[in-house]
Amino acid sequence: MPSGAGHDAMKMGDAMPQAMLFRGCVLVLSDSLAGSLLEAELTGIISHEVAHTYFMGEMTEAREAQDKQAMKIVELKCDAIAVLSLKLLGFDSGNYISGLRRREKLANAVGLSSRFSATHPEVRVRNHFLARWMKQLSQ
Ligand SMILES: [Zn+2]
Repeated sequence: MPSGAGHDAMKMGDAMPQAMLFRGCVLVLSDSLAGSLLEAELTGIISHEVAHTYFMGEMTEAREAQDKQAMKIVELKCDAIAVLSLKLLGFDSGNYISGLRRREKLANAVGLSSRFSATHPEVRVRNHFLARWMKQLSQ
């Protein structure tokens, strides 16, 4: 996996379709996710995870306060950065949502569908937020 900009990456052999930023500097991707997504979808997912570095303090505060709504807001901010990153890299920004949907299907297939529901907005909500945000960007 590529490394740069102060981040390292590792691929984990796991059936759980997950991506996460460990300690704010190591990107961890499961085999099942890395092997199932299209390049642009995976780029969006990785961009989202790297975006978490911008909001570490906010996320830590939300976690410590067990403020699930604040955690969901951070997720939406990271989504916005992921979509903007895709756009700047020349990918169709719709690949981000299709990547989230594909990850959701993979999670459902291994019985993990509800794992992130407390701390992450539903894909439908994320899609709606991103559509509105992209519309504002184009005005
Ligand atoms: Zn996230």
